[in-house]
Amino acid sequence: MSSRAVRIAQLMCHATAETLSPLADGVLLRLRVGSGRATYHRYDPATGEHRINYGVRMVADKASPESCGAWLSAREIRGRGYYGGVLSESNLLAHTCCHEFAHLLQTRQGQRRRGSVHNQAFYRLLDELHWDGHADALRSTLNQYSEAMAQPLATTAVTVAERTAHGSGFERGDSVRFGRELQGRVLRVNRRTCTIEGTGHCRGRRYRVSPQLLQRTQD
Ligand SMILES: [Zn+2]
Repeated sequence: MSSRAVRIAQLMCHATAETLSPLADGVLLRLRVGSGRATYHRYDPATGEHRINYGVRMVADKASPESCGAWLSAREIRGRGYYGGVLSESNLLAHTCCHEFAHLLQTRQGQRRRGSVHNQAFYRLLDELHWDGHADALRSTLNQYSEAMAQPLATTAVTVAERTAHGSGFERGDSVRFGRELQGRVLRVNRRTCTIEGTGHCRGRRYRVSPQLLQRTQD
């Protein structure tokens, strides 16, 4: 993976720590960079530690108009009007920090439940991060850091192909999650849907799912 993506993922950790962490006083938060796509917030009740992981392949995906559209963060920016609804590398990565941090706040409020991760309580918290200016502050910090490291994030708007399944960026073999804790692998990209072969606890099952409902990983 490119060293640029690794460096940007590290800057996302710094920016999250500096700009968002103060909103969750007293919380034990570990921010780390993962080598794959997986990008998530986890909470360990045993240690009380929150962990946010930014995957370097996720960072690389979001630098590319061809692959950024399949991520939930792209759908949220467009669908909910965050950052003016503009998809750019800078907005996508800054929003990713807000998205994961909203999971931390959601968990702290006891509003994250199995099978109900992106629920109303989650979006209320995410909306607040945006409408209260924290998302803007985070984005400024991230942009400053990346410019200081001579790795400026692109702020130009990208256009994502209309969301027929073929324009969705999914390919055979992609690991996806959807619905209530369902998981699988893309077997075929059809005109409007993807055929998914279940994996893990969904093994042996097949689904036809609209690409809007698919997430590459836990975004
Ligand atoms: Zn999420």
